[in-house]
Amino acid sequence: MARYTDANCKMCRREGEKLFLKGSRCLSSKCAVERRQVAPGQHGRMMRRKISSYGLQLREKQKVRRTYGVLESQFRNYFKKADQKTGVTGEILLQLLESRLDNLVYRLGFAASRKAARQLVRHRHVTVDGRMVDIPSYSIKPGEVIKIRDKSKNLEMIHAALKEVGRGDEIAWLRLNKAALEGELLEVPTRENIPLTVNEQLIVELYSK
Ligand code: SF4
Repeated sequence: MARYTDANCKMCRREGEKLFLKGSRCLSSKCAVERRQVAPGQHGRMMRRKISSYGLQLREKQKVRRTYGVLESQFRNYFKKADQKTGVTGEILLQLLESRLDNLVYRLGFAASRKAARQLVRHRHVTVDGRMVDIPSYSIKPGEVIKIRDKSKNLEMIHAALKEVGRGDEIAWLRLNKAALEGELLEVPTRENIPLTVNEQLIVELYSK
């Protein structure tokens, strides 16, 4: 299975902002964006200069793609799907990405990062409506219940993530039951309820060329 292998912090430095790819480290002073404010590589300093409108669109797309940890071809498929639906394409694109099982495992706080959430799903620690699902891109519908399997409930990484990050409590469109290690997508979030600082319209412009 194809996978993203670039160093996480390098991706944040390239985008010039925190993408929160490494759990609690991202909230500490060890964060590479806070320590080194230049893009990676030999020409890192020069990259911060002038940027064309195409460059802006590209960076915005890369930022979203890297945040959710999806490959270019998958991302393009999400865009195609969003474009075929009725509504605001940029918002639908983000809604599709937010509905991914790995993203929701992360948002609920069962994993410190989306990467760790993907690992939990792939390693068969997660069920959806009582059925084991090991596909990170599985699209969750409102009302479906995401649960940590009984045999996985003692996994230290899950409890550490819940304790350290505790993000599921803060999101109104999710229901989290920490004691039962289960959660639910209550509704598809509207754009203003998706906690992501990005101009998705630039991505629509990029792919509409
Ligand atoms: Fe990005 Fe987190 Fe690394 Fe900071 S610590 S650069 S936010 S992945």
